Amino acid sequence: MMLNLPNRPWLDELSSSFAMIGFNIVLIEFWLSGRVKSLSRILGVDWVLQVHQLFARTALVFLLLHPFMYTLPSQPIWMTSSSHQDFLGLTLTSGLTGMLSLFALICLVGLAIMRKSSDLSYEAWRLSHVILAIIIAGVGFFHTIDAGRYAQEDWMKSYWQFMLGLALVSLAWTYIVKPLVQNKNAHEVTSIKQVSLKIWELVIKHSKEKKINYQGGQFAWLKIGSSSPMPENPFSISSYSRQDSSEISFLIKDVGDFTHQISQLQVGQKIFIDAPYGNFGAEALSVEHDQLVMIAGGVGIAPMISVLRQIERDQDPKVLAKKILLIYGNRVAEQAVNLKEMIHLESFRNLEVVQLVSEPSKDWQGLTGVLDATTLEKILNTHQINVKSAQFMICGPAEMIDSVEISLDQFGAPLGNIDSEKFQYDFGKKNPKNKRSVISTLLGTAALLAAAIYGALH
Ligand SMILES: Cc1cc2nc3c(=O)[nH]c(=O)nc-3n(C[C@H](O)[C@H](O)[C@H](O)COP(=O)(O)OP(=O)(O)OC[C@H]3O[C@@H](n4cnc5c(N)ncnc54)[C@H](O)[C@@H]3O)c2cc1C
Repeated sequence: MMLNLPNRPWLDELSSSFAMIGFNIVLIEFWLSGRVKSLSRILGVDWVLQVHQLFARTALVFLLLHPFMYTLPSQPIWMTSSSHQDFLGLTLTSGLTGMLSLFALICLVGLAIMRKSSDLSYEAWRLSHVILAIIIAGVGFFHTIDAGRYAQEDWMKSYWQFMLGLALVSLAWTYIVKPLVQNKNAHEVTSIKQVSLKIWELVIKHSKEKKINYQGGQFAWLKIGSSSPMPENPFSISSYSRQDSSEISFLIKDVGDFTHQISQLQVGQKIFIDAPYGNFGAEALSVEHDQLVMIAGGVGIAPMISVLRQIERDQDPKVLAKKILLIYGNRVAEQAVNLKEMIHLESFRNLEVVQLVSEPSKDWQGLTGVLDATTLEKILNTHQINVKSAQFMICGPAEMIDSVEISLDQFGAPLGNIDSEKFQYDFGKKNPKNKRSVISTLLGTAALLAAAIYGALH
């Protein structure tokens, strides 16, 4: 049904455009939660989650502006007899649904920004995030259908139903379908042992029929006890995919509730895994570069071990010919895992390992300090790394990755040669990669804004 709607002030048109842009972004956000395997593999989970965070802010700006535009004095003189009510058709229900979904969106974005500085546990925050997202999508949908001028047209109504349906499918897939499938395919703990101060090596076995194929450096979501939707936590795989083995291993640092439970697991206990995710590591390994620099902070060594194990498995002469420099930083020496026990270092022709600790004991003989610009530059120069042409892989805590990326950018390393994976979804620091994403989002927002203004004026 095509409606013959009366003309209305351009600011009202603009307001509708803002609402439609904002609500579209909200519904697309469901697919950018980092839980869609194919997206995380193509784009990398850090990128997907950073876009998710930036899109949420963009949607909030558009949806916050939406109700206020209607109150601006924009009517031309010849329209003074008509009230906004004639155009809006706002009822008590549509007013309330609009306010509720906007309030829920403010809470969701606010809680996400303040999560780290608040006392809220990660699990409580994640549950609130999912509930608020459902409220925003569900109540926002009713508001759109009820109050939206263009949503009165059949094709538009079908469009919104389709978009809401897609968003709900992604939720149902992650929180209902996957847990049910996982419950049928429980894995078993084969071994659990402490390999350094606070770091445990967990090995689990999966049935041959349900073999998980992954690339060195990818990560998995783990659950223990039951396959219920939450809690589930991400961990990089430290093993390499083998035809003759159904085992997968992880290096897990005991830092909180979940990771402490991992350290207490017993052989034979059930564990649930959803993998593989991300594209960090071997997936990005390029034969174009003749030097590969791997920089690991703490337990960020896990995916590096996986990549090195895969390089050893593949025996690709072009990759083996590369000069590989592994820089491994820890706070204290006891935190470092014994690399010789994990990788056959001698089977690499060109592998050099540099270990540094920031709080050395008296008998520490390696480098000391943190990976700041001066230390990093010294190491790269000593090992004759050509910063402009080498490939970099960085993994570990967010602060360390930010600091290393800022330094590499200053030294002239092209951003495209830097592959990194953060162990916290913290994109606050203005490192060069984050800045690039923020600028792209701002440009995208400006383009949407221009399109909305153009549409409203014509
Ligand atoms: C892609 C990726 C790969 C990782 N690989 C490893 C690894 O190989 N080894 C390792 O020891 N750690 C790894 N981590 C970090 C690990 O996920 C967290 O240390 C762990 O989830 C902490 O849980 P907790 O309940 O023990 O601690 P908490 O005290 O509850 O959490 C500590 C911090 O960990 C993060 N975190 C907690 N729960 C989750 C969750 N469900 N999802 C995402 N982040 C969470 C939050 O930033 C939180 O502030 C990885 C993280 C990511 C994102």
